[in-house]
Amino acid sequence: MKYVLVIGDGMADTNLPQLAGKTPLEALALPAFDRCAGCYCGRALTVPHGMPAGSDTAILSIFGYAPQTYYTGRSVLEAAGMGVVLPDGSISFRVNLCAIVPSEEGEMIIRSHNGGNIHGVEATTLMNDLIADSEFARLMNEAGLEITVTDTFRHVGVMKSEAKDIGAVRLTEPHNVLDQDITAHLPHMERKSDDKAARKMATDIRALMLRSYEVLKDHPINQARIAQSKLPANMIWPWGQATAVALPSFEEKFGHYGTVVSAVPLVWGIAGLAGLKTPHVQGANGDLDTNYEGKVQCLLDALASGDDFAAVHIEAPDEMAHAGDLAKKLEAIQYVESRVVTPILDELTKRGEAFRLLLLSDHPTFLTTRTHDGGPVPYAIYDSRVVYTALQEGKPLPKREFSEYEMACEPVLMDGTDLMRVLFEQI
Ligand SMILES: [Zn+2]
Repeated sequence: MKYVLVIGDGMADTNLPQLAGKTPLEALALPAFDRCAGCYCGRALTVPHGMPAGSDTAILSIFGYAPQTYYTGRSVLEAAGMGVVLPDGSISFRVNLCAIVPSEEGEMIIRSHNGGNIHGVEATTLMNDLIADSEFARLMNEAGLEITVTDTFRHVGVMKSEAKDIGAVRLTEPHNVLDQDITAHLPHMERKSDDKAARKMATDIRALMLRSYEVLKDHPINQARIAQSKLPANMIWPWGQATAVALPSFEEKFGHYGTVVSAVPLVWGIAGLAGLKTPHVQGANGDLDTNYEGKVQCLLDALASGDDFAAVHIEAPDEMAHAGDLAKKLEAIQYVESRVVTPILDELTKRGEAFRLLLLSDHPTFLTTRTHDGGPVPYAIYDSRVVYTALQEGKPLPKREFSEYEMACEPVLMDGTDLMRVLFEQI
């Protein structure tokens, strides 16, 4: 028996006027998704009530780890995915490169949480030049901050700090305040706290962000980007503060062991901390033009080489929704159907061993707000045995669409951490 998990990040959405009131999943023809829904489908609450809606909490849940227990913040999971181990008494951050564009009224508007999707040598050069700036370096030193630079818009900060009440420090998620003036969203104390170190952390990070803008706004790379009508990557944005966390082994929890294929450090980190393998696939970039075929092949190879569980995570639908690009979100979902789910179903059917495949969106990402939602997501499970029996008996499976609307009447699995047990038939 083989078990497969396919996560289409942020595929679920809300009714959109541009689609005559349909959601993207409803509006598209997605035959492979519907084959899954024909076997078994439902809705699941992956983000527990009262917790921040995001892939961090949602994917922890999906892999069976209650965010209420294991979520200390996003960045420590990502840091783990980048091989950054937190020393004792330190706090990690996600450090985005984002795009700030001043308005005519002099407001500082955040136009992109990823610096217009800055990547490659442009990203590393900007970050390295920033860290080389003497004033920025002095502020980093004073804050006790170190930054691990990557070739994407996502970098990792680790700060030595005595702060205990880090939840009182408001570091806003940049993707949640797009197109807004950043003034109210710069680091500040969210509530009263006696923790002086936490207050210092907020002040220090604010100073670092403002200095980064001074250093980067006229950087030649950004001047060239602006000249090409691209967004500049001109401010660092630390967020998602977290302390160290350890996850119990996935294999010990569920009795299954395997591989997780993704392009994003967050998923590598969760899987790695859970003791699952996280191979990196060339050309897998978390974007619309990711290497879908390479990722699917990696998953199929893992299953062929003895793993009984393998997961693939596709980031693009979420990123396209954050970008507010309906056409590209539709395209991304279509690729998850035609270039991920379809070839996996076809190949595993050909191999002949029984398998179950769980398909879901980790959380909804609304095109209307360009941000995540914590509501329930549709999920479906393809079961080759159910399909085989239906064929043998000549009884076609029910025709069901994989969509929010079709599953609106299905009961909600209130605890998303049960999803793995549902996949493994342990409940
Ligand atoms: Zn997202």
